[in-house]
Amino acid sequence: MLGWLMLGWLMLGDGFRWSGSVGTMSPDDMLQTVRAGTAFFENQLDAVSNEQLSGESLLPTWTRSHVAAHVGYNALAIARLVSWAETGIETPMYDSRQARETEIDTAAGWAPDTLRTLCSHSGMLLDSAWSHLPDDSWAWQVQTGQGRLVPASETIWMRTREVWLHAVDLNATATYGDIPAEVLDRVLRDVVGLWATRGEMAGLRLESVEGHIYGDRDAPDPHIVTGELPVLTQWACGRAGAATTSNRTESPTAPRWL
Ligand code: ZN
Repeated sequence: MLGWLMLGWLMLGDGFRWSGSVGTMSPDDMLQTVRAGTAFFENQLDAVSNEQLSGESLLPTWTRSHVAAHVGYNALAIARLVSWAETGIETPMYDSRQARETEIDTAAGWAPDTLRTLCSHSGMLLDSAWSHLPDDSWAWQVQTGQGRLVPASETIWMRTREVWLHAVDLNATATYGDIPAEVLDRVLRDVVGLWATRGEMAGLRLESVEGHIYGDRDAPDPHIVTGELPVLTQWACGRAGAATTSNRTESPTAPRWL
């Protein structure tokens, strides 16, 4: 295991590091963080009774079962990318956006035990796929659901953000304050990066009370949204309920992320 980690580090250099304003995360830490996130998600799912599964999640139109179905199938989709890197045979995450939505809707209607088994087994399958990926396959380029080409090593982060954020979306007991600061920091950088790519939220700057700055640094008269890192991240991901302050009369509504 350490072999590929070191090789991945050397091959990918700084691109493989999380060099953010909140510390730096090594590849070894990344695997630990995704495993902790998987355990966190499982824990939250365990905290939801079978009866509560049909109740509202924190995502509009999705029940808790939809969130669980999505996270379960997401592990299988990411495992397809790991398989792609291992075999060189192109296996996309999903056949289509419609196919992805159909499988979520279908599994959301399954018996609770079946849905829980999907989540636990798919998580184990993905972890096993990472554990068995040869050292020289981690730099293999695979394609994300949004069409971006990334090295297979990126699949660890792709899964990390899913399990940590959707654990809170289950609307059980967790909050963004339970998510590690390194994960929140990278999520925020991903979110503002996506806004910049799409030309959204121009002139917006996020300032965490911990002293970190994200977003448009060059705007002459920026709209500044401020909050603690967990609150700011929750707001930036388009989740309701976050309390941020702003130098304008109102904070804008951020689009949903993930
Ligand atoms: Zn998701």
